[in-house]
Amino acid sequence: MSTERPLVDRHGRAIRYLRVSVTDRCDLRCRYCMAEEMRFLPRSAILTLDEIALIAERFVARGVTKIRLTGGEPLVRRDALDLVRRLGRSVGAGLDELTLTTNGTQLAAHATTLAAAGVRRINVSLDSRDPERFRHITRRGDVAQVLDGIVAARAAGLAVKINMVALKGLNDAEIPAMLDWTSAQGMDLTLIETMPLGRIDEDRADRFVPLTQVFDTLAARFSLVRDAHDSGGPARYWRVGGTGARLGLISPLTGNFCDSCNRVRLTTEGKLFTCLGHDDQVDLKAAIRTGGLAAVDAAIDAAIASKPARHDFDVTPGAAPAVARHMSVTGG
Ligand code: SAM
Ligand code: SF4
Repeated sequence: MSTERPLVDRHGRAIRYLRVSVTDRCDLRCRYCMAEEMRFLPRSAILTLDEIALIAERFVARGVTKIRLTGGEPLVRRDALDLVRRLGRSVGAGLDELTLTTNGTQLAAHATTLAAAGVRRINVSLDSRDPERFRHITRRGDVAQVLDGIVAARAAGLAVKINMVALKGLNDAEIPAMLDWTSAQGMDLTLIETMPLGRIDEDRADRFVPLTQVFDTLAARFSLVRDAHDSGGPARYWRVGGTGARLGLISPLTGNFCDSCNRVRLTTEGKLFTCLGHDDQVDLKAAIRTGGLAAVDAAIDAAIASKPARHDFDVTPGAAPAVARHMSVTGG
């Protein structure tokens, strides 16, 4: 563990997990995540690969043990694999885990490179295995590409966990079949409640499904045994009886987990957000460009000192998003 000043907030939470949005761009337009017409950042506004790596390395020096690359879709950024290779050098040298959340569309081409760079596990988002439904939810995706990507990732030795956002009337009826499939394949499945981040083209309340309700449905059909497994993130896990696989639930609305939050998020613009649901941030791009790494350290200290106690998400009908930023900007 690092001997430099560790990152502990005023609520006593140690920060060990950095999530990096390497791009706000994406090749899909999932309905709960983005509006159909999204405006993305100009390239001139974003951190260079070297800047991201330098900042991430500062976090590792200050006690961060897990880094997740996300976005937007991380694999659409051209130099994303160079970043994976660079940060992969810290695995075993301060960093316990370098991982990635991806929509899987480009995974088939990049899986072996990820594995060679030191990535061991990845999360792949898959909200439906049905081609029509997948295309509808993503507004353009081809599920076959994602399924091929999952096969390639596993063949390359990567453990794959499937992420599925539960959406009323869109994919909630498919959740038991998804758990059947993931368990049979020996993959974990994490279900996620839709969060009110950024304006989309519909009211999220219409699609919100409480995972408490989903869990009751699943528990009637599967033998689910609470598991102490901790992936270092917000999910709570259950063993799916008769299989080696797990069900995870990320329930920010029905099961607040802020007390144990160990995370901060770096956007592709260089803003450090200490909570997904608040606007508090510091500008690490300005810090690194004007004052170098000493200024980055000072800005990180200031951010951690003001990390909010909890989010105030509200998905009642008509409620405004908690923040204007989409998940793809902050790094989901
Ligand atoms: N593009 C990659 C992907 O889809 O996996 C990485 C970025 S995406 C923002 C990361 C995760 O956030 C995905 O599992 C996605 O389903 C989830 N997500 C996006 N918007 C969300 C929202 N408003 N509420 C809950 N989860 C969301
Ligand atoms: Fe893109 Fe991921 Fe958002 Fe879907 S959830 S639009 S794949 S960033």
